[in-house]
Amino acid sequence: MVTLWVKQRNHPRNKIIVLSLEQAREAILAKIIPASETTAIPLDQALNHYVGTTLTAQVDNPAFDNSAMDGYAINCKDLDEANGYQLSLIGEAACGSAPAQLAPNSTMRIFTGAPLPQGADSVVMQENIEVSDGGKITFPEEVKIGGNIRRRGEDFKKGDNLYNSGHQITSNDLALLATAGIAQPIVWTPPRILVIATGDELISPGDTLQPGQIYESNRLTTIAQLAELGVTHVDSDTLRDDPNILREHFAGAQNYDFIITSGGASVGDYDLVKQIFSEIGEISFWKARIKPGKPIAFGRVGERSHFFALPGNPVASLVTFKLFIEPALIHWHHGTFHDPQLQARALGPYQRRPGRREFLRAQLSIDNGILCAMPLPGQGSHMVRPLNQTNGFIVVNETSSGFKDGDTITAIPLTTHIASGQHTY
Ligand code: AMP
Ligand code: MG
Repeated sequence: MVTLWVKQRNHPRNKIIVLSLEQAREAILAKIIPASETTAIPLDQALNHYVGTTLTAQVDNPAFDNSAMDGYAINCKDLDEANGYQLSLIGEAACGSAPAQLAPNSTMRIFTGAPLPQGADSVVMQENIEVSDGGKITFPEEVKIGGNIRRRGEDFKKGDNLYNSGHQITSNDLALLATAGIAQPIVWTPPRILVIATGDELISPGDTLQPGQIYESNRLTTIAQLAELGVTHVDSDTLRDDPNILREHFAGAQNYDFIITSGGASVGDYDLVKQIFSEIGEISFWKARIKPGKPIAFGRVGERSHFFALPGNPVASLVTFKLFIEPALIHWHHGTFHDPQLQARALGPYQRRPGRREFLRAQLSIDNGILCAMPLPGQGSHMVRPLNQTNGFIVVNETSSGFKDGDTITAIPLTTHIASGQHTY
């Protein structure tokens, strides 16, 4: 048996500070050393990266006056009663060619996105004209100057500020960045992260369980949660509860921006992780007044490495990731974390004794446009079965003793895949 210290209830080393969720988050964010290196990344690899500087438009959009419709380009003053609102068709303005020249008393066929011919001041939709014999086009009596024209720079102008540092690039953003001629946006160089699961009992899914063993799940889940945040530079391992192995790994991991462990962060005799971190780094250790979530440890090692020691219970691990690591990573990338809390209608009651802020695994659904949240049965932090129905959390505040069916409660969606209609399990 490995005993690194004899537990003494009153020993200052074992005194656990209890913080609210907000205090714990603040304590973490105050200690994060934000990213300092940027890199230019090709646009086709930029999805999910975080903008590392102010990004400005390299061109005007639209880049030139062009047609919003398939139709005919005209100069409005050429149309009058005297010519019967007829003009001669003299050619075509095609997409991808330089602007053509419109001669007086003539019109040109034009297509959506094609440059407006010089001399034209309006485009008439093809549905609104008539083609007459002899190559003449008859127009309506009323046409508007500027009609169906997209003006150069009306969307944005060269030099406009489009993004600030800390913005995470989405698929929408790729459309804007490409249009603005930003081929290699500057982004924060992605963090390098080491994910370690600890526990003598852990084996990989696929191996045969021996007595006392369980399948490891936190390492996989944490890596997937990181990927959902766009972080993919991850190394990982599963280690035994051996202080020498853990010490060697953690001490050699100071080039990682984040080291995330699960298990071994509690107060059991084998809970070595936090002690080794406190030997090699500067550790903050507390119990947050949340459920699930045992004491977690956070701190820094070396010049720039941060570590999080998450609880081992799978549900506690994934909830504490969401509550602490997600805001920490956004902050590290110079972004702003927005707590995604929404009002929802309770589907079903939940009763409890007030105390900690609780995060219930819940099934969110939409009923006639109203967000609903059903607490799932089996809320023990070791119980993973409800995860196959979980697409959000219900937040139960410290002073609350629960809620009744139909009450307005607070929910955190974990996905945008929220089905319509009331769901049951
Ligand atoms: P610990 O925090 O190490 O005391 O672990 C608490 C509980 O979580 C124990 O039942 C462990 O077996 C379980 N556990 C720890 N790590 C993992 C893991 N990576 N995957 C699944 N269960 C784990
Ligand atoms: Mg353990």
